[in-house]
Amino acid sequence: MSAVIISGKAISDEIRNGIAEEVRLLYEARRRDPAFVPPGLAVIQVGADPASSIYVNNKKKACEQVGFMSFGYSLEEDTTMEELLDLIDTLNRDPRVHGILCQLPLPKHLDEFAVICAITPEKDVDGFHPVNKGLLSIGRECLVSCTPLGCLALLKSLQIPIAGKQCVVVGRSNIVGKPVAQLMLGENATVTMAHSRTTDLPAVCKNADILIAAIGKPGFITADYVKPGAIVIDVGINRCEDNKIRGDVDFASVVEVASAVTPVPGGVGPMTITMLLKNTLTAYKKITEGS
Ligand code: NDP
Repeated sequence: MSAVIISGKAISDEIRNGIAEEVRLLYEARRRDPAFVPPGLAVIQVGADPASSIYVNNKKKACEQVGFMSFGYSLEEDTTMEELLDLIDTLNRDPRVHGILCQLPLPKHLDEFAVICAITPEKDVDGFHPVNKGLLSIGRECLVSCTPLGCLALLKSLQIPIAGKQCVVVGRSNIVGKPVAQLMLGENATVTMAHSRTTDLPAVCKNADILIAAIGKPGFITADYVKPGAIVIDVGINRCEDNKIRGDVDFASVVEVASAVTPVPGGVGPMTITMLLKNTLTAYKKITEGS
């Protein structure tokens, strides 16, 4: 058997086109209204880490492509906590801004958690604020972290049944593992969360109808971890010694066992920025229309 290769790129393009169309209709309907403001995303980068700069530029570009306003703030490496919190406070109150994200990781002298907490939950399009994390855990409407949301959007757009299925999530980070497990639980999957202390991980994983790998170890999930016919979602993005990006899944062996698998690159990755756009539009609607 050879699995279907899930094209995150194609699904992502389709969702982005839908967002762009929604924004176009918004401009058309409101173009004579002097009070009209389009959706706006503010992206803060502290320091000049090259990988962060690439992510930040991709986010800005994606915003512009769908007709959002994008506001970029490049701060010096030695920016103080006070200066950063002042900027966030200004953006929290800026009516042109509906989403705020601060590119992580921050330089070591800055308190990441305090920065996340300073962003008003209504504009927290990364879904990292404890209020949004809490709302997700009690199954209420909220802004959900982009990568987990992207995993769910992939499964839904392929109409893969989730309710009643065994779902194993390997990895329990606050950014990916925990929220993706909560989303799957919200879809009525029976969810197992595995991590580095799980005993007999291959057997646990082999029980999964849907296996989600968010580990950070290239090629870790081999065919021995996969039940024949399972759906495998690879969240991993690992830059290897040969400078190539590899996922957490050993694609070559898993593709022979699974019924569908996401590639890396081109699987979950493109969905993450798309979900950032989706979250910004959701925040915009909530702020401007109260819906
Ligand atoms: P973390 O390092 O925060 O978490 C890794 C998780 O994997 C931990 O829970 C850890 O367990 C678990 N783990 C590590 N080793 C093993 C092992 N041998 N067996 C079982 N579990 C193990 O990583 P993230 O969640 O932030 O990211 C995971 C991957 O996803 C990375 O490759 C990252 O680059 C990628 N990523 C991709 C994104 C995208 O846009 N596609 C966005 C975010 C991340 P324990 O808790 O016990 O230590």
